[in-house]
Amino acid sequence: MVEKESPADTVEPGLSCPRCHMVQIAELPANGITPHPGYRCLSCGTRLRGMTATYAFVIVVGVALIAVSAGVVPIFGDDRDARLRGFLSPYLIPLYFIAIAYAVREVLRPRPRRTLTRR
Ligand SMILES: [Zn+2]
Repeated sequence: MVEKESPADTVEPGLSCPRCHMVQIAELPANGITPHPGYRCLSCGTRLRGMTATYAFVIVVGVALIAVSAGVVPIFGDDRDARLRGFLSPYLIPLYFIAIAYAVREVLRPRPRRTLTRR
């Protein structure tokens, strides 16, 4: 499957591809999930990751939400935990899993190399 090209495939300065070492790295256009989905090498087509910190945050929060919704981690240790699970329904756990899976997939992508330091 070929990903849809954005009309303005502008090369991002200061980045290079970790696979083919070319400097034609374009920022991917915003999608429905994130305004900054990462980069793509215009030479070999490798998808490169963007906001690592955000994905790490999603993974941490997602795991925490699953632990709390499943009742694995009693945060308060009293009846407030049950009230919390009223908000964080176990039925939402698949959604957290999807978010985590997406974030993990993005984090596992190679990251673009910096070829020059930005001011
Ligand atoms: Zn490449």
